[in-house]
Amino acid sequence: MSFLNGIAASSGIAIAKAYRLVEPDLSFEKKTIKDSMEEIARLHTALAASKSELEVIRDNALKKLGEDKAAIFDAHLLVLSDPELIHPIENTMKNELVNAEYALKETADMFVKMFEQMENEYMKERAADIRDVTKRVLSHLLGVQMANPSLIAEEVIIIAEDLTPSDTAQLNRQFVKGFATDIGGRTSHSAIMARSLEIPAVVGTKESTEVIQNGDLLIVDGVRGLVHINPTPEVVAKYEEELNSHKIQKLEWAKLVNEKTFTADQFFVELAANIGTPDDLEGVINNGGEGIGLYRTEFLYMGRSQLPTEEEQFESYKTVLEGMSGKPVIVRTLDIGGDKKLPYLSLPEELNPFLGFRAIRLCLEQQDMFRTQLRALLRASSYGNLKIMFPMIATLDEFRQAKSILEDEKQKLVSKGEKVGEKIEVGIMVEIPSTAVLADQFAKEVDFFSIGTNDLIQYSMAADRMNERVSYLYQPYNPAILRLIKMVIDAAHQEGKWAGMCGEMAGDEIAIPLLLGLGLDEFSMSATSILKARSQLRTLNKKEMEKLVAEALKMGTAEEVVHAVKKF
Ligand code: PEP
Ligand code: MG
Repeated sequence: MSFLNGIAASSGIAIAKAYRLVEPDLSFEKKTIKDSMEEIARLHTALAASKSELEVIRDNALKKLGEDKAAIFDAHLLVLSDPELIHPIENTMKNELVNAEYALKETADMFVKMFEQMENEYMKERAADIRDVTKRVLSHLLGVQMANPSLIAEEVIIIAEDLTPSDTAQLNRQFVKGFATDIGGRTSHSAIMARSLEIPAVVGTKESTEVIQNGDLLIVDGVRGLVHINPTPEVVAKYEEELNSHKIQKLEWAKLVNEKTFTADQFFVELAANIGTPDDLEGVINNGGEGIGLYRTEFLYMGRSQLPTEEEQFESYKTVLEGMSGKPVIVRTLDIGGDKKLPYLSLPEELNPFLGFRAIRLCLEQQDMFRTQLRALLRASSYGNLKIMFPMIATLDEFRQAKSILEDEKQKLVSKGEKVGEKIEVGIMVEIPSTAVLADQFAKEVDFFSIGTNDLIQYSMAADRMNERVSYLYQPYNPAILRLIKMVIDAAHQEGKWAGMCGEMAGDEIAIPLLLGLGLDEFSMSATSILKARSQLRTLNKKEMEKLVAEALKMGTAEEVVHAVKKF
């Protein structure tokens, strides 16, 4: 038995067989053949196998993921039977007496190049379709298996180099019991999604795709950050016991689902949830969320080939607002960039995407896209208690510009007789150190702050949140970070505003006592952390936590702070 160390990204334990979501080796050699008819027959066998595989995938996607995703596979099926592609491959085999793999790849590459050079976006997408289909046919010619996650029909643990947010969103919760990735940190989006899907995950294992084979029995220990490979029956039994006690613990927490969150000395704090799509609402309600503290709207824009329309967005926002029945819903405007890309925007590659043209920077420049989102939000606002916040605000000027565009759209809608919510609070995420330092000035103009510690820590410590080598610098308890957070909360209170937190730190057991002591008003976290946090907060005394954090702010290292909290 062996195990890998990684970063505990999503708590819980999963025991199941490995499923590698890794591209297989599709390399081959160019060969001269004698009988082109035989080689053409091989090609057609591979085409037929690819076709039946794709039909099953398409039908599955249609059932589970909707027409939008299924259409991708329809396009692939069209490519498979397109004589304009098949005939040139056959001709290459006949004329040059080369093997099917070579003829296929040569011909497909030529078409890919041709489509990629076209101006028309639709044609450009065909290049991607041909590339995907070619891989599938090649895999059949070479007798290797492609990963087909939508065909998974038994309990598995996914092994991948990394999972993009749209990969993660497509995983079937029924069968995917956990996952382990080579790269990523606690606040990479795959980790955040795993927490919201309640799937145990370990990220940043560096070599899981290298050492784990399909079918290996795995234990993903999302509590300690371990992946056990083919464990002994004793180890399995020990983990099964732990799984059981988790279940009992959860039943205890579940009793708090309809309770408000009061500390032992009767201070009220609000516990809200972070969501990515309207589908997450069920989890928020089942876990007793008192509001939505962060609705990451970028998932509406991802995994598709063009921008979502105003109407589509309106429907999603309305669903969430109605679903929360008047409880606060904070919607963050589009935060694309960093590790979240939108290929159809055709933005140039950047050397430092986390420091680049992203979020509000992009929205202020591509105003049509921004205004569409704001209109959808404003129109949905009369269906609930909407608050809007802008991500990655670095300067007051950015906030003023964003707010004035919002006002402008509001006026236009009102003058057309549209119903718009009376008082929509407008706030910002504090994710950039300069904004935290200048919070006293921002507090005069914003209605609230929501501290985004995932980015605030990455920028303060200069440590890429996706890079597992520097993940030791993700230090939420570092006194430097605590001081920045204090500046933000104090500045808000000075101006009679409120301060929340929607970074992962807000749901962290060690951080919660410190944040309570600092006076944080709202804690927004993965829905699955809410009940645990509520049960913890009920035992804490705010006045005592104020003393604890006053000590912590004077300490030199994160370790000392952790020690002090644990001693308490
Ligand atoms: C954050 O940066 O803390 C945050 C909540 O935003 P995201 O994780 O989506 O970047
Ligand atoms: Mg952020």
